[in-house]
Amino acid sequence: MFNFSLKQLSGLLSAKKISSIELTGEFLKRLKTLNPGYNAFITINEETSLVQARAADAMIAAGQAHPLTGIPVAQKDIFCTKGWRTTCGSKMLSNFISPYDADVVERFNTVGAVNIGKTNMDEFAMGSSNETSFYGPVKNPWDITAVPGGSSGGSACAVAARMTPAATGTDTGGSIRQPAALCGISGIKPTYGLVSRYGMIAFASSLDQGGPMAKSAEDLALMLNVMAGFDVRDSTSLQREPEDYTRDLEKPLAGLRIGLPKEYFVKEINDDVARAVEAAIAEYRKLGATTVEVSLPATKLSVPVYYVLAPAEASSNLSRFDGVRYGYRAPDYIDLSDMYRKTRAQGFGAEVKRRILIGTYVLSHGYYDAYYIQAQKLRRLIAQDFIEAFKQCDIIMGPTSPTVAFDLGEKSSDPVQMYLSDAYTIAVNLAGLPGMSIPVGFGNKNRPVGLHLIGNYFAEAQMLNVAHQYQEATDWHVRMPVQLQT
Ligand code: GLN
Repeated sequence: MFNFSLKQLSGLLSAKKISSIELTGEFLKRLKTLNPGYNAFITINEETSLVQARAADAMIAAGQAHPLTGIPVAQKDIFCTKGWRTTCGSKMLSNFISPYDADVVERFNTVGAVNIGKTNMDEFAMGSSNETSFYGPVKNPWDITAVPGGSSGGSACAVAARMTPAATGTDTGGSIRQPAALCGISGIKPTYGLVSRYGMIAFASSLDQGGPMAKSAEDLALMLNVMAGFDVRDSTSLQREPEDYTRDLEKPLAGLRIGLPKEYFVKEINDDVARAVEAAIAEYRKLGATTVEVSLPATKLSVPVYYVLAPAEASSNLSRFDGVRYGYRAPDYIDLSDMYRKTRAQGFGAEVKRRILIGTYVLSHGYYDAYYIQAQKLRRLIAQDFIEAFKQCDIIMGPTSPTVAFDLGEKSSDPVQMYLSDAYTIAVNLAGLPGMSIPVGFGNKNRPVGLHLIGNYFAEAQMLNVAHQYQEATDWHVRMPVQLQT
């Protein structure tokens, strides 16, 4: 049952073969046994989860069930969750009990999904390995000496270890796709503006986007049906007709044009990753797709551009954590400035401080034009490349990450190496496009490899179709680590 799809679980619930109380209880039991070894969750709240499960059972009994009613979903600890501790992976919010729900949480509550816990993450979503969390690193279920990726590493680990059927994540530069790839699960970062950022703790507001993480594309489509939608409380939320993201899942792929950016298949990519990605593309050819070489020349600038813009926005967003209204406050200080200084010195970890310093620097009077404005101009060029490429193809494919999961500690003292693990994902956020990762095999040390799918604006239904057809023909997405196959 732990390997069942959302549709299968929903079928069991509606056929009354199992109640949500039982289902939630089973997952909680597994989670409590496994989590101490993986550290995927920061907070669990068994009683609250079971209260939600009971309410879901009542909805089912009353014939008001939605496809996700009664199904456990884990929430990344970046989403404000009423009555739950919401830490964002930081000491700064270690005592923060949210007084309200994020739009995403509210949407899951409305359909009667059960919140099974809050997942671990890099502090304020800054990181690619989950090692910047104040609550300690998360372990990769495929190899506990490896990182799960980040920043949604807790969600990726929880799904990969089948501690929850599905989870939420957020992606500012790759944080849904890269951990999905490293943990062998599926994840989609929607077009910017599709999922509300209300109550999603801000890192870099022009890049941040919430999305689902689950075993398969079909599961992601069901989750996106819940998560996407207009919200007046987010000024960048898009007002569009609601879509059914499952509508195209079964479409055959004959005639699909896949763009392969020549810049993606160069020496930076490891052989093991290249092999699995090429095998996946060969599978797509069997399914009727054709491939065409495309070029994204400005992509090589995306990491430096991102590390100007994201810290600039972060330095502004994180100024609200001052010890005054909520969150951590330094216990000893002499006056107000001293309180601010000590609170921020003690409450933030090293990576967060590095970003605030960089961001403040690039926004400062003498450097604004040289860094921030230049980066904004390059951002436009990066987006323009994709617009050109989509004239020749329907979808772009490549590796999600240049390597498989690296060892815990391997890159934690070298920020630049760490930043390069998002070399393929970051451009997608800069352009505001939807991106996705699906498991397509294993590389070195038997660690998972992810295929990166990039779609045009609002092409989510098509991307999910492309991913689903591959998953119908292969079984990478249902594999799970041997030690967990119980
Ligand atoms: N690894 C990138 C960073 O540290 C992206 C993180 C994210 O997408 N939240 O900024």
